[in-house]
Amino acid sequence: MGRVQFDGCTFDTGPTLITMPFVFEQFFASVGEQFSDHVKLRRVDPACQYRWDDGSVLDLPFDADAVPDAIERFAPGDGASVRRYLQQAREIYELTKNIFIFSPFDGYKEFFRPKNFSLLPKLGRLKFTSKLHDVHASMFRDKRVIQLFDRFATYNGSSPYEAPATLMVIPWVEIGLGAWYPEGGIYSIAEAITRLAVSRGVRIHRNTRVTSIRTFHGAASGIELEDGSFVRADHVVSNADVYVTRTKLLGKALPQPTDLSCSGLVMLMSVNRENYSLQQHNILFSNDYAGEFENIRTELRPRKNATIYISRAAHAEPNSAPLDRESWFVLVNAPPKGVAPNLDPEHASVWKGHEEEQAGEVLERMEAFGLSPHVRQQIIRTPDTMATEWSSYRGALYGSSSNSMFSAFLRPRQRSTDVANLWYVGGSSHPGGGVPLVVTSGMIAADLILSSQSHR
Ligand SMILES: Cc1cc2nc3c(=O)[nH]c(=O)nc-3n(C[C@H](O)[C@H](O)[C@H](O)COP(=O)(O)OP(=O)(O)OC[C@H]3O[C@@H](n4cnc5c(N)ncnc54)[C@H](O)[C@@H]3O)c2cc1C
Repeated sequence: MGRVQFDGCTFDTGPTLITMPFVFEQFFASVGEQFSDHVKLRRVDPACQYRWDDGSVLDLPFDADAVPDAIERFAPGDGASVRRYLQQAREIYELTKNIFIFSPFDGYKEFFRPKNFSLLPKLGRLKFTSKLHDVHASMFRDKRVIQLFDRFATYNGSSPYEAPATLMVIPWVEIGLGAWYPEGGIYSIAEAITRLAVSRGVRIHRNTRVTSIRTFHGAASGIELEDGSFVRADHVVSNADVYVTRTKLLGKALPQPTDLSCSGLVMLMSVNRENYSLQQHNILFSNDYAGEFENIRTELRPRKNATIYISRAAHAEPNSAPLDRESWFVLVNAPPKGVAPNLDPEHASVWKGHEEEQAGEVLERMEAFGLSPHVRQQIIRTPDTMATEWSSYRGALYGSSSNSMFSAFLRPRQRSTDVANLWYVGGSSHPGGGVPLVVTSGMIAADLILSSQSHR
């Protein structure tokens, strides 16, 4: 989460939508506080506007019960299928959430724990072996409806053509459990957590890089900061990318991860306020969705017709911009930071010097949807920025992708396997990326630390 301000406008720089609000409620409750006393969440209704370049537009309502009817009006014949789909998605979520999301995950062993025995006969219903897109293609007739549901694979940086259909839990989480936005923008959640932590005596070192995690006799003993100082610690919890933590902060030599989640090109733009007929969250779909994911897998930069996401904070909060303009957060999924052949991977990349050109292509593509905003000022962030500013390996948004049915089993868990008292949290660890899951990873780590031998 981050916030920047320019041209009188305020922008969230990372997440723009909140799901699973009950996770934040639990998190605040765990320290005796009520989330709603700190952050006011509002429903986002419609949850999202979807546009295709044939001119068709669908506003998907917030209310899950209203979604099948909205789809039926848009794509006659698919409403009942969407109702059935959401029921199945809900079932998968209910069956898997306590194993794959809300508890420390222990791989295949989970299925042999007595508490999970009841799941064994239902394994087939979890759709591990089907591809997400194939399930959508078999259930819906209209290719726009297929594409709309396929899109949810991108929420953890995966491809619907490769990821297991178990990821049906993602549309359920957004459609069934709702799409939310906090008053004051997403960053107000970070501010609320910071205020609460400080009020409980937590000391936060801002804008200070950790240069290494020190170990002593195989256990984490503290961290070194960039000014050379050492902070001794009983436990070290890292929410930097796990691969980066292990290679850069622990100095381990590890093979490079291969199946990375996607990265992104983000454009923060102040634009003239006009009647764009957009909602708060908007998707302008690619006319070649399969090609878009093939591009992310095999090429270095996004294609001209890639899907565009636009979040307009001013729609929810008119005060976030002066009356004559609005702040747009524009995101295009991009291949993780790639390096052009024959260039030194540490220093050169295909993005440097091409940011404006790439942003220009996104604006050009918007015109196919009847959108020609006058851009007053903009900041462009590329996979390079994500790799350097946020230390994510090659700018991948969520560490490894979830493209394989084994992904959940391979994702690093909270407890380090080779350094005692070192814990991994955040998007590249279990249970995965997205704000509520990242908060969940922190809560799991906290429980494990409190019950660990070294804490007693
Ligand atoms: C453009 C974008 C849009 C997204 N949209 C959504 C959304 O709408 N909804 C949603 O739920 N999720 C969304 N996500 C995903 C979500 O933001 C991430 O899953 C989540 O922020 C990951 O949290 P984290 O703590 O693992 O990592 P981060 O949020 O990346 O935090 C890690 C922090 O550690 C710092 N750091 C790294 N290394 C060091 C070091 N050595 N020393 C000191 N500090 C260090 C980094 O600078 C960074 O501030 C989005 C992500 C992106 C990039």
